[in-house]
Formats: sequence, structure tokens, C-alpha cells
Amino acid sequence: MSETQLDLFIIGAGPAGLSAADVAAREGLSYLVIEKGLIADTVYHYPVGLTVFSTVNELEMREGTLKPCREKPTREELLSHYVHFALERDLRINTEEEVVQIKGNETEGFLIETTRANYVARRVLFAIGAMSRPRRLGVPGEDLSKVHYRFVEPFPYVRKDAMIIGGGNSAAEAALFLAEHGARASLVIWRADWENRDPKKGAIKHWVREPLEREIALGHLEVIFCAAVEEITEREVVIRREDGETIRLPNDVVFILIGSEADFTLLRQLGVEIMPAGLTSIPVYDPETFETNVGGIYVVGHFTHARHIKEAIAVPRRIVPLIAKELRGEKQIV
Ligand SMILES: Cc1cc2nc3c(=O)[nH]c(=O)nc-3n(C[C@H](O)[C@H](O)[C@H](O)COP(=O)(O)OP(=O)(O)OC[C@H]3O[C@@H](n4cnc5c(N)ncnc54)[C@H](O)[C@@H]3O)c2cc1C
Repeated sequence: MSETQLDLFIIGAGPAGLSAADVAAREGLSYLVIEKGLIADTVYHYPVGLTVFSTVNELEMREGTLKPCREKPTREELLSHYVHFALERDLRINTEEEVVQIKGNETEGFLIETTRANYVARRVLFAIGAMSRPRRLGVPGEDLSKVHYRFVEPFPYVRKDAMIIGGGNSAAEAALFLAEHGARASLVIWRADWENRDPKKGAIKHWVREPLEREIALGHLEVIFCAAVEEITEREVVIRREDGETIRLPNDVVFILIGSEADFTLLRQLGVEIMPAGLTSIPVYDPETFETNVGGIYVVGHFTHARHIKEAIAVPRRIVPLIAKELRGEKQIV
């Protein structure tokens, strides 16, 4: 296989990767984005019709270019915005191609192997997000076909018993969509998560909680406080309640929505250190340059401390010009 030579190799075409590609193009770097899914694949996998929680100015790639019908954009409006940004700027992105291995160093260059080709790059920027590995409960029955780790839409579950397990916004939103669309929905949640009202600690957003409480009052949704989920069977889920009693609840479908983790395999292979950060882990990197402990390897976006889309877009605008400057042999000023 022939090898394409690049200044900057970007992994992931989410908001962070798109922003990095845009700056790389403007800096005159030879760059390429490799994306294993589609452009803005994480947004593509949001529930159909979802209204996102951020405001327009936090999400748009250029001021005044994202124009939703209502105050905040839907999944479809946001996805269209990112796709059109890539098209209008003719960004170099290969979709449905996955990076599988990276070797080398910043002096001799990095050799990148994907599912389709090999590339050589002087610098590599990881914009891989944190959705690759959905968290699992680790209980028997989790691999049954009725168990899902993503919620797409409520329509297949009208008049069915649908159980949602999880304490965050994604679980609450799925429960709301299902309850509003005729499923017999039950939300299995740890009491501390239900009672959490602190937005800084991941509390369910108030504009989700309020309609959720209306659905509970209407009898469309049951909230079940649990100590543990013990087992999932073809027809039931076995739950240990707070008082220690075990109950068996019938259901047709189960959504386990308890968050997800980044896949650090490639970073670990390169020698990048990964450290614990709250419930999750993040790579070790310089907070100014976002370069990791391995020279020439950079990280941006959802698997760093700068998690939200606003920062995923903003950070590449700061660091890609620094990378360009360094590659041009100018002194890096931070
Ligand atoms: C339902 C839902 C609603 C949300 N709403 C909001 C909101 O309102 N506001 C907000 O700020 N955030 C929101 N988020 C979080 C937001 O989606 C992320 O913060 C954002 O996507 C981060 O952008 P990113 O570019 O860092 O990562 P991502 O958008 O996740 O992009 C990473 C990309 O890398 C690709 N990739 C990974 N590994 C490889 C590989 N080995 N080879 C090739 N490609 C690879 C992935 O396929 C993916 O497309 C929401 C999340 C969910 C699930």
C-alpha cells in the first residue's frame, strides 16, 4: 500500500475534528480527517428529533450560521449544520474508515494504519470523543437482543413494556420520549441520581425533569429506585430494591444508558498516560497545548477536560495554529 504524507492527521470528524480540519486548512497544512462512522457521527446517533441542551452560540462552527426554527436546534438541524460546514469548506475527510494502529515518533513521523490505507504524518491529533465504549452493568443477560445501549426513537415500542436503566440525562430523555409515545415505561434509577439537583454534578436537566414528572403523574411512567440490577432474562429484569427485596419486572425492551468511555487503545499503544478523572479517565496532556506526554500526539474534545461542544470547537482553534507554527520551524509561543 502506498503511503500518503501529511503534516497533521486528525482522527474523528465530530465538532472537534471538524474545527481542527478547518484551522489546518487555513494554516496551509496538509491534513486529513479519518472518521470510522459518518460526519458528526455522535450527533447522528442522538435520538431522532431530540432538541439539544446547548445554545446556538455554543454549537455553531461560525457565528450566525446555525439557524434553528426554535431557540435551540434539534439533532437534525445540528447534524445538517456540521455536514454543510464540511461540504462548504471542502474539508478533507474520509468517512467509514477506522484507524487501527499508530507507530513511530515526532522525529521520524508517525505511521498510521487504517482499515483502508497507510499514512505517514508529522503530528497526530486525536478527536475521538468518548462514545466508543458504552458502559455495561456486568450482569447476566446483558447480551440479549432486547437490550440496547443507545436509544434512537420511541415508535417501535408503542404499547410495549420498556425499561430504561440509568440516572443521567440520556436515560431521562429516553424515558420521556417513550412515556410520551405510548410505551409502558419504567425508569430504574439510583435514588441519589434522581434526587440530584446540581447541574454541575450531572443532574437531569430541569426541562427534561418537568415533563418527566408530568408523565409520572399521568401514570405513563413509573420510577423504580434500585440498589442493583441483578439479571436480565428474555421476559424480565431482576432488580434488588433499596430495602433488599428482589423484584422481577416484565419487559419487552431494555435500554441501559449509563454513559460511555473513550477507547484509549491507540493512545496507550503510543505510550500516552491515562489518568482517572471522577467516574471516567482522561489522557495526560499539557493544558495549554493539549500535547500529551508523547511528543507530537495531541488530544481534543469530549475525552479531555474540555468536554462540551463549545470547547471541542474552541480548543483546536487555539492549538492547531501552534502546531502549524512549530512545523514551520518557528518558535512555539504559548
Ligand atoms: C444525546 C446527546 C445529547 C448531547 N447534547 C449535547 C449538547 O446539547 N451540548 C453539548 O455540548 N454536548 C452535548 N452532547 C455531548 C456531545 O455530543 C459531545 O460533547 C461532542 O460530540 C464532542 O465532540 P467531539 O468532536 O469531541 O467527539 P465526537 O463528536 O464524539 O466525535 C468523535 C469521532 O471520532 C470517531 N472515532 C473514534 N475513534 C475512531 C477511530 N479509531 N478511527 C476513526 N474515527 C474514530 C467517532 O466515530 C466520532 O465520530 C450530547 C451527547 C449526547 C449523547
